[in-house]
Amino acid sequence: MPKKKMICPRCGAEMNNHAEKISYETAEGNRNPDAVFGGVVDEIHTCPGCANVESRAAG
Ligand SMILES: [Zn+2]
Repeated sequence: MPKKKMICPRCGAEMNNHAEKISYETAEGNRNPDAVFGGVVDEIHTCPGCANVESRAAG
């Protein structure tokens, strides 16, 4: 199943899924840490238009 593209909040371009990282920060919401990784997985998205970088929870 194809993932939904992330749209750059600055310029509206489609962002590229650059990487994924494990985040151990759980304070910003009710995000349940992954039992395998010991944290939550964040997707890192970069914008080809304005070089903006955004992250969001994967899945
Ligand atoms: Zn942009």
